[in-house]
Amino acid sequence: MDYVKNTLLNSSSADLAVKMENFAAKFSGTIRQNAPMSEYTSWRIGGAADWLLEPASFDDVIMVLDFAQTNNVPLTIIGRGTNLLVSDNGIAGLVLRIGEALSQVDIWQEGEEYLVKAQCGALLAALSRQTAEAGLSGLEWACGIPGNLGGALMMNAGAYGSSIGEYVTEVEAVAYNDSENRKAVLQTLQGSALRFGYRSGCLAQDMVALSVTLRLQSGEREAACKRIGEILTSRRQNQPLEYPSAGSVFRNPENSHAGYLIEQAGCKGLTYGGAQVSEKHGNFIINLGGATATDVLQLIEQVRTIVAEKSGYVLETEVRLLGRKAE
Ligand SMILES: Cc1cc2nc3c(=O)[nH]c(=O)nc-3n(C[C@H](O)[C@H](O)[C@H](O)COP(=O)(O)OP(=O)(O)OC[C@H]3O[C@@H](n4cnc5c(N)ncnc54)[C@H](O)[C@@H]3O)c2cc1C
Repeated sequence: MDYVKNTLLNSSSADLAVKMENFAAKFSGTIRQNAPMSEYTSWRIGGAADWLLEPASFDDVIMVLDFAQTNNVPLTIIGRGTNLLVSDNGIAGLVLRIGEALSQVDIWQEGEEYLVKAQCGALLAALSRQTAEAGLSGLEWACGIPGNLGGALMMNAGAYGSSIGEYVTEVEAVAYNDSENRKAVLQTLQGSALRFGYRSGCLAQDMVALSVTLRLQSGEREAACKRIGEILTSRRQNQPLEYPSAGSVFRNPENSHAGYLIEQAGCKGLTYGGAQVSEKHGNFIINLGGATATDVLQLIEQVRTIVAEKSGYVLETEVRLLGRKAE
């Protein structure tokens, strides 16, 4: 298994540092050089990103895409890092993190229905709680998912039989246009442009989601909040939330469940370095402390091999791998 991105910089890093200084004068968000990705991922794993940029406006995002294009620098987009395994060798180029600074939420009524327009840095769990408190029904299932709305959109995050794609009516995203010099432009996607699959979102990989509009129903505030309480209790009982993890490591194969297959194959408790297949939930790999991406990858391969031998199912990863390949 390989990491998704492994492009090297064209410009020398000294060159880029000078260009970044000029860029920073126009950028209203924050910029961090050599940012340890272990601080930006729920697994607490990952080497440094050359540059980590957190935009504070849609214009900032457009500027980052144009900067990456003009300077031929690789660009990686992340949200809260709760579904990512970042290489121990870090990430080359720019990491664009959509986070707290872009998390505005607006709710309004249209006939019997309610529309919720949220920026992609809004936390999904907070949105679930906020809409329930406002007496809206639909997002209760999302209360225990720790990522943000952009990450949820890209993963078509789901639980308890629902997934985010079912509620999405419109997405604002930045993408490169078709012109020769590829300029970044803000687009609005609706209708058939919004096709979701199992844990796969509706945007192409190099698009940046900035806001999502969701359609929810009027509901009972008390019932929605009660359901949230039940879900959170059940997740605390069944998931190893006391350890850093990235949730489910493997996708569920058709007609089965990865967690069940892993448990049946006797992989629970399997340990490699600082990483362990959780005793509580077979599809979680936890960081016992000091785990590296290499430890996790080794464990992923071991689990995959054992499960394939015992059940015939070849498990595919749900977590996304980012960063430089190991030497
Ligand atoms: C304890 C725990 C429990 C979990 N439970 C669930 C669960 O029940 N159901 C579930 O589906 N998932 C679950 N997850 C996984 C994870 O929380 C979700 O996949 C979440 O939606 C990822 O959001 P994120 O902001 O962390 O995205 P990231 O992990 O940062 O990114 C995920 C992907 O989305 C892309 N991306 C992120 N933001 C944007 C954006 N604005 N524009 C374009 N691309 C973007 C990234 O490039 C990457 O490919 C769990 C994780 C943990 C740690």
